[in-house]
Amino acid sequence: MKPKVAFFDFAGCEGDQLQIANLEEDLLALLGQVEVVSFREVMKEHSDDYDIAFVEGSCTRLQDEDRLKQIRKNAKIVVAIGSCATIGGINALRNYREIDDAKRIVYGDSANLFDAYTARPIDAIIPVDAYVHGCPIDKDEFLHVVKSLLLGKKPDIPTYPVCVECKKNENICAFERGQFCVGPVTRAGCNSCCINEGTICWGCRGLVDNPNENAQKEVLIKNGLTVDDAIKKFRLYFGWQERRR
Ligand code: SF4
Ligand code: SF4
Ligand code: SF4
Repeated sequence: MKPKVAFFDFAGCEGDQLQIANLEEDLLALLGQVEVVSFREVMKEHSDDYDIAFVEGSCTRLQDEDRLKQIRKNAKIVVAIGSCATIGGINALRNYREIDDAKRIVYGDSANLFDAYTARPIDAIIPVDAYVHGCPIDKDEFLHVVKSLLLGKKPDIPTYPVCVECKKNENICAFERGQFCVGPVTRAGCNSCCINEGTICWGCRGLVDNPNENAQKEVLIKNGLTVDDAIKKFRLYFGWQERRR
């Protein structure tokens, strides 16, 4: 019997599900190992009988909580996919202002019709067994996590910052190019892909575990920054994690 898997989306752009739908030949290999019973982006069928639930998107409303709890009840394993689900993601930018203020900006005079609250990752509501980080997720990392789970292993996800990969790739540091980069406090695992292309790290994989211990402090110190400075200065993805440090 192949494990049954289901995909769910909450507040997000569905870019992570698109990454999975675009797995191409790897998708066939994956379908040889699992039975997909629900995946709104690619099929009409739906079943509540599943073993593994992949959840994309942030929890942004009270009613999302009930749906998440039901998914947790149905599934043996819950996997958060993409930064909206793993860390609150870009939705959590609104957490830096009063929620009524944010609603007024988005919905204007109709703001009171919407029950949005502070955006949060799904593990703020239910226990999560595994994470696929990034915005969007990396296809290879998704496959690694799925394979590990099918083998009953804990997926190997880096606990060091992006700077480590960036240095291995012999990039010129963004700070030396006169830019700010949040790689010293961001979890690695993307092979520093944005910096390899000449830009900066925006922090999409979330804060590295225990940034005070694991940040690339030598890069920060060289540029006159502390761990807190780096996190506060660049808030695109840290609106939930920053407040909980
Ligand atoms: S993590 Fe990024 S790609 Fe995924 S749903 Fe959120 S915004 Fe979209
Ligand atoms: S700060 Fe950014 S550009 Fe500099 S080494 Fe770290 S990840 Fe690379
Ligand atoms: S370099 Fe930074 S922003 Fe780019 S994918 Fe990696 S973690 Fe995300």
